[in-house]
Amino acid sequence: MTEQYADVIIDIAHEKVDKVFQYKIPIELAQAVYPGVRVHVPFGRGNQEKVGYVVDVSGETDYPAEKMKMVLRVDEKGMSAEGRQIQIAYWLKSQYGSTTIAALKTVLPVRQKQKPMEKKKVLRCLSAKETAQAAIACAGKHQRAKARMLAALETEEELPYELVRQKLNVTAATLLALEKQGYIKIEKEACYRNPVKVTDRRENRPVLNPVQRQIIDAVVKECKEGTHGGVHLVHGVTGSGKTEVYLGIIEQVIAMGKQAIMLIPEIALTYQTLLRFYKRFGDRVSVMNSTLSAGEKYDQIERAKAGEIDVIIGPRSALFTPFPNLGVIVMDEEHENSYKSETSPKYHARETAVQIASLCGASVVLGSATPSLEAYYRAKLGQYQLYKMKERPGNSVLPTVHITDLRKELKEGNRSIFGRKLRNLMEERLSKKEQTILFLNRRGYAGFVSCRACGHVMKCPHCDVSLSEHRDGTLTCHYCGFQVRKPEKCPECASPYLMGFKAGTEQVEEAIHREFPEARVLRMDADTTRKKESYEKILSAFADEEADILVGTQMIVKGHDFPGVTLVGVLAADLSLNRSDYRAGERTFQLLTQAAGRAGRGERPGEVVIQTYQPEHYSVVYAARQDYEGFYEEEIAYRELLGYPPVEHMLAVLISSRVQEEGEKLGERMAELIRTKMGETSDLRVIGPAEASIGKLSDWYRHTLYLRHGDYQVLVKVKDRLEYYCKEHEQREQTVQFDFDPMNTY
Ligand code: ADP
Ligand code: ZN
Ligand code: ZN
Repeated sequence: MTEQYADVIIDIAHEKVDKVFQYKIPIELAQAVYPGVRVHVPFGRGNQEKVGYVVDVSGETDYPAEKMKMVLRVDEKGMSAEGRQIQIAYWLKSQYGSTTIAALKTVLPVRQKQKPMEKKKVLRCLSAKETAQAAIACAGKHQRAKARMLAALETEEELPYELVRQKLNVTAATLLALEKQGYIKIEKEACYRNPVKVTDRRENRPVLNPVQRQIIDAVVKECKEGTHGGVHLVHGVTGSGKTEVYLGIIEQVIAMGKQAIMLIPEIALTYQTLLRFYKRFGDRVSVMNSTLSAGEKYDQIERAKAGEIDVIIGPRSALFTPFPNLGVIVMDEEHENSYKSETSPKYHARETAVQIASLCGASVVLGSATPSLEAYYRAKLGQYQLYKMKERPGNSVLPTVHITDLRKELKEGNRSIFGRKLRNLMEERLSKKEQTILFLNRRGYAGFVSCRACGHVMKCPHCDVSLSEHRDGTLTCHYCGFQVRKPEKCPECASPYLMGFKAGTEQVEEAIHREFPEARVLRMDADTTRKKESYEKILSAFADEEADILVGTQMIVKGHDFPGVTLVGVLAADLSLNRSDYRAGERTFQLLTQAAGRAGRGERPGEVVIQTYQPEHYSVVYAARQDYEGFYEEEIAYRELLGYPPVEHMLAVLISSRVQEEGEKLGERMAELIRTKMGETSDLRVIGPAEASIGKLSDWYRHTLYLRHGDYQVLVKVKDRLEYYCKEHEQREQTVQFDFDPMNTY
């Protein structure tokens, strides 16, 4: 057997994770030493015995082996919470490819110990009776503030400093004087920061329907029996009561003395979500997200470890909350892109949740109105338990959907961005004082040019992505730099109506002012939500019916509940179809379905208008019918045919290089290595190397290599081999990144 080495971090204090020390593993401990285990090692010049955590085990070392010290023994205490975090970090590193440090930093997010927050309080030094006497004495001397303070302390032994200053209106000087006289004492006490500023606990609990109860029972039964590690997928139409199901499951999990992680997409953590959880769980629930200060984040981790909270709500990073006895991980809007990390390790929260759950003996619940192809595919294979919620509770019904063919509108003389159907319905809503949401789906599709008569999109001949129009009248490919003058006529049908889709949210707002002067409009996009809390302000203003129409980008379609909205207009549904990305159809279907789900959430039924240049596209057709199954069957057939995820797996290798030829050469050597040296993977598909679709970014040249195989672990092996190769041939000004089942094209 070859010599094995353990990478050990001596001090788990988060700021020290950068320092890793290597030790030799004695033969008799070979089985017992693995990532996450605590070991005793000699440390420093005096070889003092210290406890450390193993973060990696390998057969390689950069040190002269004879100089290396030995691991002394394995700690008997069993796997600690920290050890489990390290196990997860190791798993991230090996499954997704990253450095040990980057993986550790991912699971131990707040690296610097934060100063505790201090709360001041006022204590009385005398007995209740003596304090009362002192109060009377002060009153006699017309020292009213002092008298007020002492009278308040007659019934309470201590009072919060803030309350004394604000409610009792006693100045700091007065308090100091009282302290000098020996009547009171001002003390400081360390406490955790609590980012939850909600206090309303009045809850209107609906009576659960049989479907909801059945799902809750099934998941809870699994938690109780300890047949853990199961994954449950709840496919429920928008507004079908999924959140009630999550609340019900979490409630019973807490009753078993366990804790819960509630994942939501970053953008959806609204006051509304938090409020529902707070009403049910009070101060036992907390949040974690990027708007928290470092101190707040640190304290939430400490609160979780100390057993002060039972539920954490947050985006994907909340997965790494170190609860002592995790019972369930719930992942709402499971299909959302933001669950995939875009920095190394490029992990997906779904897969990571499943891994964490199996390590901790917890269950996983995934929920969505439009499950990802990945999740649904696995449910169909029987790997996940599938539940369906097809109806909304109460009188609320799914909306009626109309499709408007924008080519036809133009042919019949309507050049407005509002088709006739949408305009009529908007007028009707304004007169009935009901609300409308207009949705413009335009993530990254600025300025593409299409024919208004036939729908033809001007694309780059080299990249299969749409060209963008520039002011000087040229069409440019943002990816490869290809340029061409904008033709006078459509190359397909010779129509002169070849133009850029200029309608940004701002232009939509202007058009509303022009065509519906009496309407009150709110706009929500990247520009209007830049400031902290502006997002919340717009949403609550709209919820309070301060506006008739809300115009926005995809950020408005995420899970909000506006009972006053009875009309949703999708201005140009196909904007998200014009991408050379195998997920474009899925994304379009999801956005359209979710957008449609915003209509008619209250008592009144809703209507949806989908405007599009491609009314025959299957994503549009199935979304209009709210037919997930139909869409899934068509989409999965396409993925099967082309060998795309989830049917096969894909590994993207991104090579960034200062010198163009160097990057290209490295890509070629990698492809060669895979073809010649990895015989066992002969059925591996290797595509490239090719220039990345964004070929150059901040003067770094980018090349990609795409690999596909049915078995994920084969790709992990390839990644390991390539990583090793890169380490041996390391070059300055060159980086290699791995991305499994990528969500974006490079
Ligand atoms: P989802 O998470 O699927 O969008 P929610 O749980 O938010 O659905 O439920 C949508 C609305 O229906 C909410 O206002 C919720 O209070 C209500 N609701 C949920 N379950 C029931 C039920 N069993 N009976 C009555 N109303 C319910
Ligand atoms: Zn045309
Ligand atoms: Zn191009």
